[in-house]
Amino acid sequence: MDQNFLLQSATAQELYHNHAAKLPIIDYHCHLNPKEVAEDHRFRNITELWLGGDHYKWRALRSNGVEEKYITGDASDWEKFQKWAETMPYCMRNPLYHWTHLELRTAFGITKLLNASTARDIYDECNEKLQQPEFSARGLMRRYNVEVVCTTDDPADDLRYHRSLTPNPSPVGEGSIGKVMGKSPSPTGEGSGVRLLPTWRPDKAMAIDNPTSYRAYIETLGAAAGQEIRSYTDLLEVLQKRHDFFASVGCRLSDHGVNEFYADDFTETELSAIFRKVMDGQMPTAEEVSKFRSALMLEGGRMDARAGWAQQFHYGPMRNNNSKMFRRLGPDAGYDSIGTWNTSESLSRFLDKLDSEGLLAKTILYPINPSDNEMIATMIGNFQEGPVPGKIQFGSGWWFNDQLDGMERQMNCLSQLGLLSRFVGMLTDSRSFLSYPRHEYFRRCLCNLIGRDVEEGKLPREEMPFIAQMVEDISYYNAKRYFGF
Ligand SMILES: [Zn+2]
Repeated sequence: MDQNFLLQSATAQELYHNHAAKLPIIDYHCHLNPKEVAEDHRFRNITELWLGGDHYKWRALRSNGVEEKYITGDASDWEKFQKWAETMPYCMRNPLYHWTHLELRTAFGITKLLNASTARDIYDECNEKLQQPEFSARGLMRRYNVEVVCTTDDPADDLRYHRSLTPNPSPVGEGSIGKVMGKSPSPTGEGSGVRLLPTWRPDKAMAIDNPTSYRAYIETLGAAAGQEIRSYTDLLEVLQKRHDFFASVGCRLSDHGVNEFYADDFTETELSAIFRKVMDGQMPTAEEVSKFRSALMLEGGRMDARAGWAQQFHYGPMRNNNSKMFRRLGPDAGYDSIGTWNTSESLSRFLDKLDSEGLLAKTILYPINPSDNEMIATMIGNFQEGPVPGKIQFGSGWWFNDQLDGMERQMNCLSQLGLLSRFVGMLTDSRSFLSYPRHEYFRRCLCNLIGRDVEEGKLPREEMPFIAQMVEDISYYNAKRYFGF
């Protein structure tokens, strides 16, 4: 894992070192805690930073036979780290092996391999560095030359942390919003700042299949907008108000976590009755859930289009499969897998409905099931339309596909069935401030792929200036233009 890690040809090395590596990071989808950014959180130690909430690592530890006590239980931070270090060599060929060592090298300058015998030294060295101010939350973001970060936020959220970093928010987005944080030079001498922007994620507004928690949520949402929600019409009004509020804080994207797409027909009367039924504490039928979600997804799509946002859909996982562990730890604890829903018809109907109304926003689709890759790469072609290049995007390899092979497959598929050159590229989708090397990993993979084509004569060497520009676009400029950052 030296400086030419993954770069298997001279052209790949040139593309990476002279073009991709120098560019800032636009992390347009992640799950960082905005409070930690705003308060410039200082980490207690490497265990908190690495193992505090990373369910990728938790799964690997469990697969390696480590007891839960050392994963989410009450073992000490050192014991948890020690178990992780012991597990590391067993992670060979899993992306965690590369990610971990890239993080050690790029954040802490540690080039030793992590294993049982290096655990103590690495633990002490990381913790010593974490005491220094440049290893705070924002310090790490500056170190990695992060320009924009979009968190993931509920419509009821007051966005106080985003606003605290935006002293004089102007009403409409587009460049003026999102304070540039941190004027002091970064440890790499770049002097770059970071903009923290919210993302609209209305999943809870769709979750009518649990009437008790839904009713509580509707109350919270109404309180956030200063308006009681008594009907479906009220709900739409309040969502629009909150959508406008998010826009005023600089939001440029929505995001939806769904198992499947919903595109049923419905009537206003039906929607009102379903809403009433759920608010009265009754369980809706599967058909009612689907109609209600179809309506809200459509309304959300319209709001996004009118606001000029991009809408994202992360779809297809099968969540919370282990009921015993769900009772103990709740969601997002490493018990999710890839679902096999058949969703091409409803997805097509959903996009077509919005497109027919002239209200299809810029859209990014992230399938969790790689068997949907070709379906998505061809589906996006149905709705491409100028003047936005790559208006409908096939999102970068997500979650279980966020690894070398998954990223290559996504890019190959997009190349062959669409235009790789217009791809908005990588995002971390992470909860950790140490995940930025995933962008480096992606850029190396991209440069290797394209460099190989040049070496094999599949791409003309005399077009190198264009090819280099294409690498820079996919690494950074496409996202900057697409989202209007
Ligand atoms: Zn996400």
